[in-house]
Amino acid sequence: MNLDEATNRPYLIAVDAPLGALTYLPPESGMILKRGQAVKVPLGRRSVNGVVLKNTDRPADVEIKLKPVIGPDEERPAIPQGYMDWLEWMAQYYLHPLGLVVETVFPPLSRKTKRKSTKSAAVKDYTERAGPPTLTFEQMAVLKSITEKPEFSVHLLHGVTGSGKTEVYLSLLEKVLAEGKQGLVLVPEISLTPQLLDRFSRRFPGMIAVLHSHLTPREKTNQWWSVVSGERRILIGARSALFCPVPNLGVIVLDEEHEPSYKQDEQLKYHARDAAIVLARTLNIPIVLGSATPSLESWNNALTGRYHLHTMKSRVLDREMPSIEVVDLREVTKERKDTPSGLPFWLSDQLYAELQHVFEKKEQAALFLNRRGVAQTAQCHGCGYTAECPNCSVTLTVHGRTHLVCHFCEFTDQLTEMCPSCKEFPMQPLGLGTERIEQDMLGLFPAIRIARADRDEVQSREQLEKVIEDVEQHNVDLLIGTQMIAKGLDFQKLNLVGLVLADVGFHWPDFRASERSFQLLTQMSGRSGRQSAGRVVIQTYNPEHISIQYTVKGDFRGFAEFELQERADLLYPPIWRMAMFRIQSASADVGKQTADRLVQRSKAMQKQFEAYSQNMMILGPAPAPLFKLRNKYRYHVMVKCDSAQKLNHFCRQLLGDESWVPSGTKVQVDIDPFAML
Ligand code: ADP
Ligand code: ZN
Repeated sequence: MNLDEATNRPYLIAVDAPLGALTYLPPESGMILKRGQAVKVPLGRRSVNGVVLKNTDRPADVEIKLKPVIGPDEERPAIPQGYMDWLEWMAQYYLHPLGLVVETVFPPLSRKTKRKSTKSAAVKDYTERAGPPTLTFEQMAVLKSITEKPEFSVHLLHGVTGSGKTEVYLSLLEKVLAEGKQGLVLVPEISLTPQLLDRFSRRFPGMIAVLHSHLTPREKTNQWWSVVSGERRILIGARSALFCPVPNLGVIVLDEEHEPSYKQDEQLKYHARDAAIVLARTLNIPIVLGSATPSLESWNNALTGRYHLHTMKSRVLDREMPSIEVVDLREVTKERKDTPSGLPFWLSDQLYAELQHVFEKKEQAALFLNRRGVAQTAQCHGCGYTAECPNCSVTLTVHGRTHLVCHFCEFTDQLTEMCPSCKEFPMQPLGLGTERIEQDMLGLFPAIRIARADRDEVQSREQLEKVIEDVEQHNVDLLIGTQMIAKGLDFQKLNLVGLVLADVGFHWPDFRASERSFQLLTQMSGRSGRQSAGRVVIQTYNPEHISIQYTVKGDFRGFAEFELQERADLLYPPIWRMAMFRIQSASADVGKQTADRLVQRSKAMQKQFEAYSQNMMILGPAPAPLFKLRNKYRYHVMVKCDSAQKLNHFCRQLLGDESWVPSGTKVQVDIDPFAML
């Protein structure tokens, strides 16, 4: 953008505060400022960070006394124009103050001028380059199609686990680098394992920078600068890496595009996939989304022709897909009623036999269950009392033998032997957790080596990496874990996967429950048999559930067709768009009243404006499924609409004036929400 250099017009500046852009006079030095330039500006008595947006007119209100910009911020580089346009879009679309959005671009610390050591703890540097394998026909076709035209286009790469998607990314990056450009690779935080980083570092020695939440502020800052200065050519990172302004970006790759962790639920509630697509559009470069189980949002866009669809149907080198057996736990319960088997209640004879077989052959097995702790909760079988968190409307989870923990606020308590309510009967564990599975397995197979991977056992990245290494080097025979371990891992000797209780996610109060279950079941099954034919045993009380049916058939398309029809019937995303208003208050009454007011105001706006009365639905208020969280009462109001733009205008207008919201009560909006709790 050409700023007006002749006149001494004020500047519009995005300042680091929860405000819109503010107007400032030019700096007293007379220096001409450019769009994207980092500056210091006065705000109240403080000096704060800001970024120049554009020249502007003096406000009509002559009473307002403008202050001059203090001066350029020499420590921060200017934000490239493409990124500026994108940041403005982000603020607009997600209804978040522009100044705060812009501030997320910069690293936590200032640049170190004197560098002590260039060795980084973030990524291992190889000196020798590993050559690429000969690409398969499928891989070549995909690569050709993506590189054919270097301008903006969205490519959805749908390939079963192990079909060689990562290899496509690597070859693609090679091409982009050869043209002198840089690459950005986004992955879910949890997949940023040494396995993945090693693969990239070996192919591109000394060229990789990494950004994720486990780096120290100094490491983050160094990695950031290594990319911004152009020294490192490829940035691999979790969702926030999207904000690092890569000066010469040639391609964006976003792996496991269906992962919910791409959505940030707090503050700037952006979805990194959607944001990355808009960034690719403003920079006019291609973007590749990869997944074995694409989100229905992306799938729908592929079906309607907005994205290019590439399918990779088979595993590389003709490795077979695992064979899947479904065990009906209802039958198991019935059989064991008459003839007890001596096995733990959660373990079917089929899965037990498979485990025995695998351990005899000295292969590895994994058991997955998406639940932590020994048991879900404890209940009195006399009066029905369950231990609840005093701060949150959830039951406490049993850990160890006697610990009760709230998984939302970390409240802890002791489990009493007798029911604290009726004092007549003992408290009984209900449900099942990974810890309990470990105990039972040790009882059944005392000689096997077990690793457990859930958030209790594995709290740091180092611990996760240790577990992965142990499994890789076969120091472990059985891996027991929650979904956290099921992603993107590639273990050569893992030939049996048992899904202990597939039903866990079926009943989430969320319109994406089936989709999520299907993804998890498919992903977890895909861990089996990377080298030779693997087996999967799915235990469930709902063998007829569509998520299981289509997982067994390995039929993503069938699942998507079925589920998209459901969404269409109920006008849920991706057919319509959605915004979720969250109302939070220390008082349940005030929360309810505020939610009611919000609905009244919405309906009044619909009456007033013709456009809002068509193809827009306002639902609620309803108490949130997680009604009480950290002592705040929560209500939801949902707005569904056929157009993202209309929905955006509506939400903006609705939240434009917040004077009616009682103090101490918060009303927030989440555009394209994922978290339904
Ligand atoms: P995905 O990302 O789809 O899970 P990967 O790219 O990780 O698949 O490939 C799975 C395995 O196959 C990896 O061990 C990879 O090194 C190997 N592989 C991928 N492409 C080829 C190829 N063209 N030739 C030989 N091996 C390959
Ligand atoms: Zn709690």
